[in-house]
Amino acid sequence: MDSERILTRLRAEGYDVVGSYEDANLVVVNTCGFIDDAIHESLEAIGEAVARNGKVIVTGCLGAKPETITDRHPSVLKVTGPHAYEEVMTAVHEQLPPLHDPFVDLVPPQGIRLTPRHYAYLKISEGCNHRCTFCIIPSLRGDLASRPIGEVMLEAERLVKAGVKELLVISQDTSAYGADLKYATGFWGGKPVRARFTDLARALGSLGAWVRLHYVYPYPHVDEVIPLMAEGKVLPYLDIPFQHGSPRVLKLMKRPAHAENALARIRAWRETCPDITIRSTFIVGFPGETEDDFQLLLDWLQEAQLDRVGCFRYSPVEGAAANALAEHVPEEVKQERHDRFMELAAAISAEKLSAKVGRRMRVLVDAVGDEGAIARSTADAPEIDGVVRILDAGSLAVGDWAEVEITSADDYDLNAVVLQPR
Ligand code: SF4
Repeated sequence: MDSERILTRLRAEGYDVVGSYEDANLVVVNTCGFIDDAIHESLEAIGEAVARNGKVIVTGCLGAKPETITDRHPSVLKVTGPHAYEEVMTAVHEQLPPLHDPFVDLVPPQGIRLTPRHYAYLKISEGCNHRCTFCIIPSLRGDLASRPIGEVMLEAERLVKAGVKELLVISQDTSAYGADLKYATGFWGGKPVRARFTDLARALGSLGAWVRLHYVYPYPHVDEVIPLMAEGKVLPYLDIPFQHGSPRVLKLMKRPAHAENALARIRAWRETCPDITIRSTFIVGFPGETEDDFQLLLDWLQEAQLDRVGCFRYSPVEGAAANALAEHVPEEVKQERHDRFMELAAAISAEKLSAKVGRRMRVLVDAVGDEGAIARSTADAPEIDGVVRILDAGSLAVGDWAEVEITSADDYDLNAVVLQPR
């Protein structure tokens, strides 16, 4: 998203975006500073840009701690923090003056996007008011700052008009949307809309695209969107990072510690919307996690029967409060718990997917090649979930809808034949 915004501004001012270091007059590196691996990767990318081009501006999360970058790469021209679009542009102007007046409309109104034409990420807010002990996002990005609802809806509308068929709603805390604005009413298409999670979901659902909700923190009002899913207004898909199933570990993480309550809510959601896909992520090996806690997590997952699951081994992030907790779990125990957790998750996924064999569904085609097409159903978010493989793609093209019948399944993916392209 941040890269796309910077690219849009660059294009608007007449800069060309090129595909190689050698052809570039200047390189802007957008970094991530969240986990140690990402910091390492970002520093490597900066090093590569410095070595191969030499004129480098750095932006993004890692820029919140500029010395991390300048100690390693003293020759970078400028370091800016996350969302510092103006600062990035000023730094670019200092090196290469703009070619056009930015107020002349040289870019399509929906901006320049890096994702394929048929789906797009829609960022509704920045930052987060929580203080989960394993996370440093609030210290990097600040407290929740929601975009006005009129602005979000206008962007969404432009994207759909430009051919986007699926909107992926993202933020650090999607269900908190608007809390910082006191849920202020804005205007879209001349009509009042409140800056509130459910109202936003309903308004987005009226655009006629698939609307997929990511990073939904499990507040009680999340229950309100489930009827919208049952009615087909937004995709029956919820990405909720539950993180653990043991109330004790959840408390240490400073997450809502109502694991039991979460199970009851999941049951109720499935009663209202039987087709709902629930995706979640978990952390195993959190400091203080005992074998009993881990067993509680496995029991919780068994009960919750989540459709899509990601699992991370806890890794200390510099500056995170959890580092100070006692009883860090040895690496080999973390790995062993990760493997046991994923074994159960795979078994649940395989069973759920095999129940889909014989079903007909609508899919969106992401890629077409010699070996057929790769598509996604309502249950599959791009990049993170499984896919629907279509062996004989016929005349299907990227971005097409297709009606398919599921012929077989493995642990995470489905195979299908086309009934009719749409
Ligand atoms: S809710 Fe998410 S972004 Fe906010 S502190 Fe917790 S993990 Fe970090």
